[in-house]
Order: sequence, then structure tokens, then C-alpha cells
Amino acid sequence: MFSQTPIAISVIVPVFNEEDNLPELHQRLTKTLTDLDKPYEIFFIDDGSSDNSLKKLQEIQKQDLQVTVIKLARNFGQHPAIVAGLHRVRGEAIVLIDADLQNPPEEIIPLYEKFLQGIDVVYGIRATREDLGWRMFGSNFVIWLTEKMLGVKVPSDMISGFRIIHHKVAQTLNNIKEQQYDTSIMMLWLGFSHAGVVVRHDNRLSGESKYNLWKLLYLTLDMLIGFSDFPLRAASITGSLLALASIILGVYMAVLRILGGVTVEGYTSLFVGLTFLAGIQLLFLGVIGEYIARIYRELKGRPYYVIGEIYSSQEGLTQDFYATTKTERHRVF
Ligand code: UDP
Ligand code: MG
Repeated sequence: MFSQTPIAISVIVPVFNEEDNLPELHQRLTKTLTDLDKPYEIFFIDDGSSDNSLKKLQEIQKQDLQVTVIKLARNFGQHPAIVAGLHRVRGEAIVLIDADLQNPPEEIIPLYEKFLQGIDVVYGIRATREDLGWRMFGSNFVIWLTEKMLGVKVPSDMISGFRIIHHKVAQTLNNIKEQQYDTSIMMLWLGFSHAGVVVRHDNRLSGESKYNLWKLLYLTLDMLIGFSDFPLRAASITGSLLALASIILGVYMAVLRILGGVTVEGYTSLFVGLTFLAGIQLLFLGVIGEYIARIYRELKGRPYYVIGEIYSSQEGLTQDFYATTKTERHRVF
């Protein structure tokens, strides 16, 4: 994984239709990394952009030897794009940063200072968050749910994407056989030391967020199911409670009948009872289905991303990527 030249800092930027942000991002990143005065490399992962992002990246790469551009074969998603980078970076510190300049590149400096104190995972805590209201509510809800279901304390903003991780964290992640998992939570689970640093959070320079409510809901579901058996246990608990309730109701009705009271409550109660039970059963069938779908996905072992092309001044990288794509294990980041 590491070449003879010791690289201190590797930056991984997932890029999906960010053409207007790239020149400024590259310029500010380069300025910051030069100020840090350490050997560095920058990996831009083009995640199947349909605009001119790839062209812009190729132009940048031609002029800057530190830059490698990896083009994925199609749009695989932000996390697979980051993983494609994690498999190839050589730096001791690995910076994960978005391409839309919401995470100001200059803020890498305070993160890196914290990293140098020996912290394995340093993440940016957004001082003020420039996101829409429903996104804020959504993230707070996800954090709350994660803490309740997984029984781990999620530090504030730990699941924000802007972070520096030590290469040993990346190596550990690369060696995990499981394919589907959320890295933020996995880092907590693995027990690496972590700390947050308050950083600025800006508006997107150009373009729009690539996430909508559904995409976020799916990601959340993946995360919860990936780390918790609680949804399955909830089925057993609900089933037991309903069985208990029906026994109590049965005894109550029997007593009423013996005492000569009303025995048949009418169609409404029957109908409500039936639809309620059918609803609960379908819900938990769905929950079981979600687990089965994930087992099936794991079993198939399809590549998590596929590389289309690599543009780099590092020879090893451009030559052997067909081989690495075939043999690597791939996973959800
Ligand atoms: N991104 C990606 N593939 C995707 C969606 C997003 O590589 O399918 C990249 C995107 O270009 C950006 C980062 O992931 O660099 C975060 O995306 P975005 O800014 O849209 O997310 P938000 O800031 O709204 O969470
Ligand atoms: Mg963004």
C-alpha cells in the first residue's frame, strides 16, 4: 500500500457533477496542503459524472503531479467512490472532503493539528450548519435513533463526512470482509480514538445536493439494519405483547359471557382488529425481508465499485487496476 516516498497526507474527494466547483476546490486544497509543507497526494474520484467534471479533472491532473483521477465506470454513490480512494491512497493521514466546498479546505489545518496529537479519527463539527431544515431534523433523528438502537454514544456530528483518518483505520476498514456497513459507526464499533474539531460549514459553491429524502432514508435503514438486531427483536416483542393482550381480552370476554354481558362487540371492532394485525404482520415481514435482502447482497459479493479509468503520474496505479478491481473485496463505506 505504501511506496518508497512517504506521503504524509492523502486527500480523497468524491465528485459527482461538480464541474463549477473543481477549479476553486483544487486551488484552495493545493494552497492549504502547501502551507502545511508535507508531502501530499490528492485523489479525485469521478463517480460517473454526466457534466464536464471529468474533463476539468483531467485538465487539473495534467498540470499537477500530485493529483490522481479515478473515473468509476458509472455512478456508484459517494461511499463507493470514497472506498475506491481508500484502496489506493498511501498517506499516513487520509482526508475525506466533499467537492462542493461546503467543507472549507482551509479547515484541514486544525483537523490535522488534532490528528498530530495522536487521534485516529478526527472529524469536523459544523459550527453552523448550512443545510435545509428537514436535513437538520433528519440528522438529529438519525443520531438519536442510532444511539437508542446500537447503544453507543454518537459524538455530535461524528457522521459528518469531513474528517481525517489514520492509515491504520483505512487498512482495518479495507480488511473487513463484510460489505455493507456505515464507516462512521464502524469506527466507533472498532474502538479507534476519535475527536471532533469545530469547523466552518459553508453553502455549496455551485450546484445542488445529490441527496433527497429517500436516499437518506435508505442510507439510514442500511446503517440501522447493518449494526442492530433490534428491528427483528421488535417483532418478537410485539408478537408476545399482542399474544398477551389477546389472552387478557379472551378471559375478559369469557367472564362477561358468564356474567351474561355483551359478547359480540360488532363488525367495527373485528375489522379494526384484523387490519391492525395484518398491518403489523406485513410490517415485520418487510423487516425480515430487509435482512434477507442484505444477506443476499453479501452472498453475491458483487464489486462495490468498478473502475473505468485511472489518470495518474503514479505508474503502479494506472497499470494494475484491472487486476485489483477483480480481486479486492468491496464494501459499503
Ligand atoms: N457524491 C458522489 N456520488 C453521488 C452523490 C454525491 O460522489 O452519487 C459526492 C458529491 O459530489 C460531493 C459529496 O459526495 O462531493 C457530498 O455530496 P452532496 O454535497 O450532494 O451531499 P450533502 O452535502 O448534501 O450531504
Ligand atoms: Mg454538500
